[in-house]
Amino acid sequence: MRNQLTEQPDPAYLKLVEDYSQFLPSPAQRLRFLRSALERYHRNPVAERLWLLRQLAFRKTVIEELVQHLPSSGPRPIGVRFIYWLYRIRYPVYFTAVLLLVVVTAVTMRWVGQRLVELATFSPATPTVVVIERPAEITKPESTDLPGYPSAKIWLVERTGEYEQYSNGCRILTEYEIFTERREYYAFRRSPTKKNPRFPVGVQRLKLYPERMQRPVGILYHVTQSDLVPFTSKFNYSLRRHTKALLEYIRQEKLYNYLIDRFGRIYRIVRDEDYANHAGNSLWADSDAIYINLNQSFIGVAFEGWWEAGVKVNPDEISPAQIHAAKMLTEVLRSKFNISDTNCVTHGLVSVNPTSYLIGHHMDWATDFPFKELGLKDKYLEPTPSISEFAFGYDKAFREAVGNKLWPGIALAEARLKAEAADLKIPLGELKRQLQHDFAVYRQWQKDMRGQDNDESAEGQKPHSEQD
Ligand SMILES: [Zn+2]
Repeated sequence: MRNQLTEQPDPAYLKLVEDYSQFLPSPAQRLRFLRSALERYHRNPVAERLWLLRQLAFRKTVIEELVQHLPSSGPRPIGVRFIYWLYRIRYPVYFTAVLLLVVVTAVTMRWVGQRLVELATFSPATPTVVVIERPAEITKPESTDLPGYPSAKIWLVERTGEYEQYSNGCRILTEYEIFTERREYYAFRRSPTKKNPRFPVGVQRLKLYPERMQRPVGILYHVTQSDLVPFTSKFNYSLRRHTKALLEYIRQEKLYNYLIDRFGRIYRIVRDEDYANHAGNSLWADSDAIYINLNQSFIGVAFEGWWEAGVKVNPDEISPAQIHAAKMLTEVLRSKFNISDTNCVTHGLVSVNPTSYLIGHHMDWATDFPFKELGLKDKYLEPTPSISEFAFGYDKAFREAVGNKLWPGIALAEARLKAEAADLKIPLGELKRQLQHDFAVYRQWQKDMRGQDNDESAEGQKPHSEQD
């Protein structure tokens, strides 16, 4: 206590006391004020004399003390009235200051928080937008990113009411987009799975294990086989009118997931997650599984145009802009759904007639699809699954339709069948009969299962509107 009393007050405090004493009229009052202000200095906690708060704390103390000594009546100089006023409003001022501090702190923290979230979200390792759906039942070990198509490399940059823009330059117009129903199908796996260790009853030769799937596993390329007008500016109006009519027809029939018009514009009609009526009776296979009737399992991408054997990439047939668009769209879809190169194939390669066991029921892109330009392996050069797996054949009409040039995969698939018959030591005809029988079993099994799943009309029953 003694120590405190003898301690010299801070010079800044002394100066304030002196300044404020001028407001008192008589020397006696001033003296009393000086004395009590000094006593008050020693009573105040040391903490209030800390550097930042010092000036404020000193002024507050001095004013509070001064107010005690000011005469209660008579005219007051303006300085005194100001001090009174300050004294009266001190609590609202403190309150406002604290409130301001709280608000500023909250806003700052919120901003910092948002910046941190942005940094985490937009870091190159985790692209924001393209959500790759991987249902739990997908257990394929190669379901990681594909070489050249990591999902981090192609992402949705912007989505508006009219289009989606992707990072590889692909712009998908969504004005015509519709829903059908969620994809739902069976992949016939070559080995038993945990979920299904059994193959359907009645199978004679080829044992496959059905596994229920919902994500698209492939892309099927089509040509719309629609009327073409010359590709010149003179026909600009007709070109646009044809595309518009085609889009409306495709939407009405739920025919494809995508249309690429002759200017290379990409329209999504049926959304990716839903089936479209594009494939009809068809089959394809990869190293893991066989897929029968591809409406549910493959995304349908149609080129506006007219296919015939020997079709060329040039403005009047299939335009270079369409090829470029198809390449970008293929990249987007492969990246989004982890679609393997093997399952990017054309309608002409997968279409079958299940009653006559002939391939090529639909012929679009049965030849001349520019696989290389789209960054894909040439599927004409690989054994055709309908022939190698289920012993489908072809006839004279097919041979003529492809310009008497059968794609090499047909001969490869036939050679494979022959070798298999030799291994099994049974006549080739007998092997073919067994495999065709198995196809009928799997096809019927799939139909029955789909019928139990829901009331949705079975695929392949709706007429395919492309011209045969
Ligand atoms: Zn087609």
